Amino acid sequence: MFGIFGHAEAAAHTALGLHALQHRGQEACGIVAFDGRHFHAHRALGQVGDTFSAEAVIAQLPGHAAIGHNRYATTGRTALRNVQPLFADFAFGGFAICHNGNLTNAYQTRRDLVRQGSLFQSTTDTEVIVHLMATSKGRTVLERMVDALRQVEGAYSLVAMTNDAIIGVRDPLGVRPLVLGRLGDAHVLASETCALDIIDAEFVRDIEPGEMVVLNQEGVTSLKPFRATGNRFCVFEYIYFARPDSSVDGQSVYEARKRIGAELAREHPAPADAVIPVPDSGVPAALGYAAESGLPFELGIIRNHYVGRTFIEPSEQIRHLGVRLKHNANRAEIRGKRVVLVDDSIVRGTTSRKIVQMVRAAGATEVHMRISSPPTKNPCFYGIDTPAQKDLLAYSHSVDEIAKQIGVDSLAYISPDGLYRAMGESGRDPAAPRFCDACFTGDYPTALPDKDEAGRQPELSNLVERAR
Ligand code: AMP
Repeated sequence: MFGIFGHAEAAAHTALGLHALQHRGQEACGIVAFDGRHFHAHRALGQVGDTFSAEAVIAQLPGHAAIGHNRYATTGRTALRNVQPLFADFAFGGFAICHNGNLTNAYQTRRDLVRQGSLFQSTTDTEVIVHLMATSKGRTVLERMVDALRQVEGAYSLVAMTNDAIIGVRDPLGVRPLVLGRLGDAHVLASETCALDIIDAEFVRDIEPGEMVVLNQEGVTSLKPFRATGNRFCVFEYIYFARPDSSVDGQSVYEARKRIGAELAREHPAPADAVIPVPDSGVPAALGYAAESGLPFELGIIRNHYVGRTFIEPSEQIRHLGVRLKHNANRAEIRGKRVVLVDDSIVRGTTSRKIVQMVRAAGATEVHMRISSPPTKNPCFYGIDTPAQKDLLAYSHSVDEIAKQIGVDSLAYISPDGLYRAMGESGRDPAAPRFCDACFTGDYPTALPDKDEAGRQPELSNLVERAR
């Protein structure tokens, strides 16, 4: 998500910001701009470069204010009507909204709203916020927004736009990131600091958990309309999701990954000749592991960066080559060596299994796998796309069983305490953990009213009720 207020080229800067944030969602993207009279919108399936690189497209989005979003579906199908920013015409004027995160009571709230007559236009959880605002008794747009957000549960960082302001909000736990920046007289909101760097904006500060900021002609106003419930930022953002050149809460994501790798080496050393990252996600942790263990770091696996989601594999036989489209062994660095492979996580185990086979075929004499997160045993309800719990390898298998399945000589994960130590804590305090780590511990920091029997957030498109 990105938003900029008070710049003559708001949409062009938003397109650049979204480009820097492409890793947060590749399915679709959209920008809404406001020129003082009218809102202008463009949304499309596909990536930012394919959608917003043409001057003609940017020219259709005039104005001094703009917000934009990259979509990564955790609820709702990949259809154009689900692409954000969502836009609504309220009695008080136009309103556009982008959301990063996932609401855990969207299904129940939507069901209630539909019974009261709301007509939904998308199957995204975010639209629930728009309808709660529409039915709110609040006098101002801010009051309506606060009123709506007090009725939702879950994770939300939001960037919204009215006809005189851009509004940024972080949920009371601050599960997803949101930062404030400045570019000359213009103010900027972005999911990560790397989106400030691309437009040469200065980082001002992180938006605080439970904070609402209003960017308008007067500058930036901070409000605290929600009861602070403690900071529970998603630790998986540090481990995998955020870009390594971003900082969250004053901590560089790259440095955090290296420290996690070093802690992993202290907890789980391996008898090996080289440390090899699974690129790209394993690289910083492998650097930390190598530095701590004194073993050489080698790029023993090379990633092909030109494999898009649109690559059409011509046949089943070719499809089962799978990961080789993306990764190849660098034989010269592997042959005859005992290697430590470092990756950030094992989800279904598909990647690790193929990588291990590939590294053995390239002549590794021993393969030791080290993972820079604790075992992923629980699905995320807060905006990271994870499969159903039964498909998480670590949910149903012990570490030894996983080691057998993926074919390694040894396998070890960093412990929750080790992870917290790497993040500057003395360990994980079970009474008040500093992060949301539910995917590893099952300790969900909010209620999960929608959770179904399969342990998942139900699809909103399943909400078809018979007339009574
Ligand atoms: P798997 O092959 O299912 O075990 O997935 C593990 C790989 O996927 C690791 O290399 C991770 O870097 C990456 N990964 C972990 N979580 C996600 C996610 N939510 N979306 C996409 N990739 C992920």
